[in-house]
Amino acid sequence: MTLTPLPALTDNYIWILHNGREALVVDPGEAQPVLEALERESLTLHSILVTHHHGDHTGGVQVLREATSAKVYGPAHEKMPEPITRLVEGDRVNALGLEFIVIDVPGHTAGHIAFFAEPRGAHPILFCGDTLFSAGCGRLFEGTPAQMLDSLQKLSSLPDDTRLCCTHEYTLSNLRFALAVEPSNQALVDYDVHCRALRTVGTPTLPSNLLLERNINPFLRTHLSSVADAVQSHDAVGVASAGVFATLRQWKNTFQ
Ligand code: ZN
Ligand code: FE
Repeated sequence: MTLTPLPALTDNYIWILHNGREALVVDPGEAQPVLEALERESLTLHSILVTHHHGDHTGGVQVLREATSAKVYGPAHEKMPEPITRLVEGDRVNALGLEFIVIDVPGHTAGHIAFFAEPRGAHPILFCGDTLFSAGCGRLFEGTPAQMLDSLQKLSSLPDDTRLCCTHEYTLSNLRFALAVEPSNQALVDYDVHCRALRTVGTPTLPSNLLLERNINPFLRTHLSSVADAVQSHDAVGVASAGVFATLRQWKNTFQ
């Protein structure tokens, strides 16, 4: 199985997973990069997985469906380019000999879902859309901080070696904020150096993995005093009224 992020639009990745014959793609915000990859590798598109309704994740679905007759799977409660198979937590999607389990992760949007699979003999795969990013998390457009925190806790409880397939290359800007929160987290300092080197030569920083994220991502670390104390010093009133996680997310929204 080959797992690759195809750069799309400004800073999106469309994940493509294939076995040399058949492929699936996740969140195709545009069709062209997918059509080129299918052509280049002589692949048939078997299925399209969609995590949420935003245009930068769905814009290529209609063209790809018509060009390939791939089946489209997406969240049960969001506006989608029809016809799609609608999914809720616990549903399964079988593709390329893998079974993807659907996880409800509201927060970025109200009906956002994620897809998790454990391929035999390989590290688990999580397609998490705009919920969890490397060193960050999605903006709260439709959900509450409590919903997002709950969604991130679900994802964070997956196995350590889970490959985290996020849909944007936001890592360096997320790291700048993460370092403002936890300047003396050595794992974070080291990861920032590593990611800068990757981006200098245009290499994606993704997939990340969950063990690393639990050590460097402030949004998975709000229960730790290193993060909670920093948020408290930044905005004690916010913490008193809304809690650590909501105040951290608010801090990031206005961080320059
Ligand atoms: Zn989005
Ligand atoms: Fe997005």
